Amino acid sequence: MTRVALIAHDEKKPDIIEFARTHEEQLQQYELIATGTTGAQLMEETDLELERKESGPLGGDLMIGAEVAEDRLDGIVFLRDPLRAQAHEPDISALLRICDVHDTALATNLASATFLIEGLAE
Ligand code: PGA
Repeated sequence: MTRVALIAHDEKKPDIIEFARTHEEQLQQYELIATGTTGAQLMEETDLELERKESGPLGGDLMIGAEVAEDRLDGIVFLRDPLRAQAHEPDISALLRICDVHDTALATNLASATFLIEGLAE
């Protein structure tokens, strides 16, 4: 089954909710995982069911990275805030790096997320 991770920094949480609503029917067919707060908000605002990892700053990005290392994920939508420094920047870099190591599809903004979700549907 297609397995997808959804992550958004605080400033981007409204965007990921909007994205999930737009693609809700498609996303419902997938196994979904998310970092803690992103997952909680998505479950509140949509009918999607997600497996929630720890919050990003508490290790959630690394937990998702571990799934990438095991080739368990088909795609990641990670809406990052490009305008603010994050305390857990090393974890974020690790996640981006492991996606490149395993050639796992990763979208870090809405435009590329749309391509990713359309690509998964094919
Ligand atoms: P959050 O984590 O969904 O728990 O806010 C996201 C992040 O900061 O990586």
